[in-house]
Amino acid sequence: MHWADVIAKDVVENCDHPLIATGISPTGVLHVGSLREAITGESVRSAVEAAGKEVKLVYLIDDLDPLRRRYAFLPEEFEQYVGKPISRIPCPCGKHDNYAHHFFQPFQDAMSRLGMKCEIVWVHEMYDKGKFAECTDKALKKRQQAIQILHDITGKEADPNYTPYNPICAECGRLCKPIFESYNFPTIDYECDKCGHKGTVDIRTGEGKLTWRLEWPAKWAIFGTSAEPFGKDHNSAGGSYESGVEIVDKIFDGKAPFPIPYEFVQLKGVGQMHKSLGSPVTGLDAINMMPPEVLNYLFLRVNPTKAIDFDSGLGVLDMCDEYDRMEKLYFAGEWSEAEDNSVMAYKLSQHNNIPEKMPLQVSCRHLVNVVQMADGFDDILTVLKRTIDFSEATEADMERLKVRIDSVKYWLDGFAPEQVKFSIQKAVPADIELSADEKAFFKLLADRLKDAPWTVDEINKAFQDVAKPLPIGTKGAYKAMYKILINKNEGPRLALFLASMDKQFVMDRLQAAQ
Ligand SMILES: [Zn+2]
Ligand SMILES: [Zn+2]
Repeated sequence: MHWADVIAKDVVENCDHPLIATGISPTGVLHVGSLREAITGESVRSAVEAAGKEVKLVYLIDDLDPLRRRYAFLPEEFEQYVGKPISRIPCPCGKHDNYAHHFFQPFQDAMSRLGMKCEIVWVHEMYDKGKFAECTDKALKKRQQAIQILHDITGKEADPNYTPYNPICAECGRLCKPIFESYNFPTIDYECDKCGHKGTVDIRTGEGKLTWRLEWPAKWAIFGTSAEPFGKDHNSAGGSYESGVEIVDKIFDGKAPFPIPYEFVQLKGVGQMHKSLGSPVTGLDAINMMPPEVLNYLFLRVNPTKAIDFDSGLGVLDMCDEYDRMEKLYFAGEWSEAEDNSVMAYKLSQHNNIPEKMPLQVSCRHLVNVVQMADGFDDILTVLKRTIDFSEATEADMERLKVRIDSVKYWLDGFAPEQVKFSIQKAVPADIELSADEKAFFKLLADRLKDAPWTVDEINKAFQDVAKPLPIGTKGAYKAMYKILINKNEGPRLALFLASMDKQFVMDRLQAAQ
């Protein structure tokens, strides 16, 4: 059984109204790890749905969280906003409603591309609408109990001044500490430790918020969360999940969700930078450089407790190939026990929209070559049709092809290693020298191919037959071909490469190179 189905089974058996929650505090660029969280949440949602139960996925945007420090990517003037909620800080580019929207936008784009079915909830709106009022009231009234729980769970010395709630100073806009003795539902006074301002807030409004250790379990109580993925750092002994379990029970009379702690995503090796932008791989890059369903698959094929090395180099093509292989197995209806988990991951990566029949597979590895041979979709299609039968291609197949082309182009542009790049030379390159043996090979190959059918198999056979007995051998023959076509010593798999080209073009080149 796939891990998402195991969790779904628990949720279906124990929850009347299953709800999966996940979220983000959009303070900076979207990380690949945040995608893991989102995809994990969506996969459990679709697994519960597939098990026949109605289920909801909510995506919480923690936009009342304060800016903790001025990050290196922020201009100096942002120093003044440290300590203010990110929904009340201007957007760095001037095009978004505020700071939180600015950094959430790419995430939202990613979620729609991934086909996630979730309800987006802005946490500041929940506060504005008084949704946290009951929990805040309980937290303030049972503050001593909360202090005791945190002491018991974390092992840290009990802090008598610990505050479960921070008012937002009306003067300077920063989160500050309340005067506990002044609490009288629904108001509490504060004296701002940053600017000295004295004021009063109504806890039924967005004029303040619970602190993280209390806010998280409060969300569980408010939503009745059934399961939630979160970074493994929250799952350590004494961490916020452990304290949350106690707090939701003793302070909020709620239940903790089924925990899905996930390991981090590491970027594999050095040099995982966008070639022209010079920035490290972001979540947005990840989602642009491979088809969304393949990215889903990448996260679903291993248990959340396993670390993932994200390889933005040739690993992208390996992953696309593996995805295609699992798709073939799924539609063939037969696979080995060792492949079971991966085939199930393929199934889950469709979010319950599994194609009715086997889709037309155009491998990303092949497309990497084809997009370098043609400009624009129509030309690419012309090249593809030389080796792939499109007679039964559906609209969905063509849509998928377009997405794959875009992904491959993005990858080539920003992340692909030099070894896969080439450009077809308009004539025999002027700066190469061809030996008599090479020229003899071109002539023999041209003679042999002249009347041969233009297919991968025939070209391969002709090439082997002609090159093997010659002094340059097949190795030298490959090299000679790459030299006259792309001015490199190596290149794409030759027979498929030639078959993808116009036959006359290849024949003319062989002629010109003799
Ligand atoms: Zn912006
Ligand atoms: Zn203040």
